[in-house]
Amino acid sequence: THDVHIIGGGLAGSEAAWQLARRGVRVRLSEMRGTGERTPAHHTDALAELVCSNSFRSDDDEKNAVGLLHHEMRKLDSLVMAAAAKAQVPAGSALAVDRDVFSAEVEAALASQPTLEVVRERVDDVPATGLTIIATGPLTAAGLAQSIGARTGADSLAFFDAIAPIVYHETIDMDVCWMASRWDKGETKDYINCPMTREQYLAFHAGLLAGEKTSFKEWEANTPYFDGCMPIEVMAERGVDTLRFGPMKPVGLDDPKTGRWPYAVVQLRQDNKLGTLWNMVGFQTKLKHAEQVRLFRTIPGLENAEFARLGGLHRNTFLNSPELLDRQLRLRSDPHVRFAGQITGCEGYVESAAVGLMAGLMTAAEVTSASWTPPPRTTALGALLSHITGDAEADSYQPMNVNFGLFPPLHEVKKKQRKEAYTQRAKLDLAAWVASQAPLPA
Ligand code: FAD
Repeated sequence: THDVHIIGGGLAGSEAAWQLARRGVRVRLSEMRGTGERTPAHHTDALAELVCSNSFRSDDDEKNAVGLLHHEMRKLDSLVMAAAAKAQVPAGSALAVDRDVFSAEVEAALASQPTLEVVRERVDDVPATGLTIIATGPLTAAGLAQSIGARTGADSLAFFDAIAPIVYHETIDMDVCWMASRWDKGETKDYINCPMTREQYLAFHAGLLAGEKTSFKEWEANTPYFDGCMPIEVMAERGVDTLRFGPMKPVGLDDPKTGRWPYAVVQLRQDNKLGTLWNMVGFQTKLKHAEQVRLFRTIPGLENAEFARLGGLHRNTFLNSPELLDRQLRLRSDPHVRFAGQITGCEGYVESAAVGLMAGLMTAAEVTSASWTPPPRTTALGALLSHITGDAEADSYQPMNVNFGLFPPLHEVKKKQRKEAYTQRAKLDLAAWVASQAPLPA
């Protein structure tokens, strides 16, 4: 018997299981690998396998958002962070690990917990009752994905991401761009518009065709593009004007400088409630990241753009969390079911583990009928959680790494000192929050 059923022994599921077991909660952790099944990306049966890179990215907790997340997770007794410390290999300011040692450390720590049972089994249905955490990741097995889709509505579960780049608002040149909606009469100015001349458009079009692209992995290939998420370079290949009749359509957009429609337009739409992040509408792409930065900075107004996220397209199962989940990661329609990890629409090993950590804490509180206050949204944990559970715009929701654009802005601080200001504020607020939490049993 168990109090909590966790499905998926990846980064998020392992971290959630640890947080619960450390508090004496009885957990069943179901992992399908080890039964002869694997996702297309996993190569081993080990818990918390790192499927690709062996890096947890920057460990700089003064100027970097993911480094700050490391710091916060360490303060919360994170298993993933502890195992990473034991498995660390030299990588400059990044935290990189020996992946086999890392997974072995995670497994050993979980095996030492008397209230935790790891069961090698595939789960095909969302459990009808009992506290559940679903942490089956971006490659959730088909049966369970179907069952989740049936509960949430098929439109709410995506199987591919179609990631358009996101720009930090403060790096957009508003002397060149202007705010307007198509055909607006001055009342709704929802989009930032970047105007292009014919010459600029033709050069941009040629750049899209010539740009180096990443290819689909073998198991991702042969997937038809769905409506609304065709990569811009594929659209560009269909004809020189295809984009001008698609996402770069200028009609109904009078440039206040000329009083006329430009030859083509790139539109950006607000991506979070704070207004710090703006996505390039319709610009999902498989161009290599360096190419994207180079080419997108040729767009008038984006010459100095900094990107919170670059474009992409991958197989990736994730929920429309801002719509479906409550502030505690529970399905609004079935509150005994909680989600954690990349399936919630965060992106990355560290973020997945961080959401797993929070799901563990939330569930532990629920088991003991204690109330749970989320970490302040000025912290990396709180910012990530707020983004997933409501601050992101639901209609353009796509997976994203942690970044300072998710934090309540500090406009009053000079740009040069802003990163340190974010991390200092976060550390203070996290410390106060940690102090308010029930202490861990010895
Ligand atoms: P996972 O770690 O994938 O864990 C999910 C677990 O659930 C798996 O062990 C799986 O076997 C199990 N499972 C699935 N379905 C079932 C079921 N029905 N029943 C029981 N168990 C089930 N992030 C980075 O930071 N760096 C990278 O280099 C990186 N590379 C990536 C490469 C690929 C190909 C992919 C797909 C993702 C990559 N990511 C990367 C993104 C992400 O960080 C990882 O996918 C991360 O592992 C997500 O953690 P998770 O716990 O949500 O899911």
